[in-house]
Amino acid sequence: MSDYDYDLFVIGAGSGGVRAGRMSAGFGARVGMCEDMRVGGTCVMRGCVPKKLTVYGSSFHDEIEDAQAYGWSVDASTAKLDWGHMIAKKDAELQRLEDVYHSMLKNAGVDLLNGRGKLVDAHTVDVDGKTVTADKILVATGGWPSNPDIPGIEHVISSNEALDLKVLPERMVIVGGGYIAVEFAGVFSGAGVQVTEIIRAPNILRGFDEDVRDHLRQEMTKKGVNILSDTTIEAIEKTSDGYALKLGDGSSLETDLVMYATGRSPKTANLGLEELGIELDRKSAIVVNEQYQTSVPNIYALGDVTDRVNLTPVALGEGMVLAHSLFNNNPGVMDYDNIPSAVFSHPPIGSVGLTEDQAREKGDIDVYVSRFKPMKHTLSGRDEQALMKLIVDQKSDRVVGLHMVGPDSPEIAQGYAVAMKAGATKADFDSTVGIHPTAAEEFVTMRNKTR
Ligand code: NDP
Repeated sequence: MSDYDYDLFVIGAGSGGVRAGRMSAGFGARVGMCEDMRVGGTCVMRGCVPKKLTVYGSSFHDEIEDAQAYGWSVDASTAKLDWGHMIAKKDAELQRLEDVYHSMLKNAGVDLLNGRGKLVDAHTVDVDGKTVTADKILVATGGWPSNPDIPGIEHVISSNEALDLKVLPERMVIVGGGYIAVEFAGVFSGAGVQVTEIIRAPNILRGFDEDVRDHLRQEMTKKGVNILSDTTIEAIEKTSDGYALKLGDGSSLETDLVMYATGRSPKTANLGLEELGIELDRKSAIVVNEQYQTSVPNIYALGDVTDRVNLTPVALGEGMVLAHSLFNNNPGVMDYDNIPSAVFSHPPIGSVGLTEDQAREKGDIDVYVSRFKPMKHTLSGRDEQALMKLIVDQKSDRVVGLHMVGPDSPEIAQGYAVAMKAGATKADFDSTVGIHPTAAEEFVTMRNKTR
């Protein structure tokens, strides 16, 4: 046992920090933690959890329309979401979750300090004027929305404020084409707002499979989201009843609310990192090795503050690897291959492994693509198509990429991710009996190569 106050002190009580701290305490370490915002961090308080609740809430208009088409006596033309009601219920749920986090940490024996942590030296942290010492320190401060520096940028909101809006605007512009922008475009459009999504690139979701990008864009457009591509914004002006966006081509666009989702930056400012000589990369993310060690060996960092794979389950995995290696005599490294991910757009995406372009760079491949009307919509009449795509390495027959856009695709992709992690081949897929009638069975019944 060290002479320090703690064996491990964690700065930041988000997904990665809480998991690392809680597990370390479970292995017998004396653990302290500090947080200057709400315990639970981005995912629970400002990201995944409230976002998914609003994704559910905003999907009911379509459900009501479908129900009407099936014969239910409901009138979709008058159905309206009380947004304020949903946000209040979401807030109550977040409070419940925050309370759960507090008791989880308490039960694990982790000391939680309410305040902002700043490194003083390699073993000392200042938490709003109180000094604590620790043998090892973990920086898990996450990330924060980052906006370009253009005139009028102070008028815009980010996903943080979007989740706390009390009333809905009539019209809204969402800037960006990444996860957050497409998810919120679906939420607000489903809630009845006229959404224009502005992207500087030719298409949404850079980095995703090209078929997936095109397919989601078509489906979002069918649902009423107006996507303006190859479009830049030079300035934002406040007008008497909203905002005027000055676009790169000289035209102007009027709207009631502007949300930016143009990426997130690691939260590394004013933490005392530079003073200690901790190496940061050009985006100010903390540079770590495979054991999450920074350039100061007893100081560690993981999760979004290291800006690698910015997903909650990755931060959780990293936290577990760190706790095992520091306090359970069980060093290991995290496997970053085949990390499945989902975009909770309307309709959602589920994705595992390589895109077609990535796979083609590695060798010869076979591609199987299927587009079909989900069975539910044969009776509802909704004009919606699902996309399913498999990418198979010709030499090994292994399935190296699996992508879906359509109802339940995140749930479906999670199951197939296990098969792909286990190295499943196309022959394994083909010899698996389908569950009928489902969309998921399409992945085990794709027989004809598309290319
Ligand atoms: P992303 O990095 O995913 O996307 C940023 C978007 O903003 C891109 O479309 C990019 O365009 C655009 N952009 C960047 N700079 C500018 C600029 N100066 N002007 C105009 N457009 C710009 O960031 P997000 O904010 O959407 O999400 C952050 C991270 O959070 C994600 O990477 C993801 O890891 C995580 N996340 C995961 C979710 C999930 O798993 N479901 C949900 C939400 C977030 P371009 O393509 O041209 O570069």
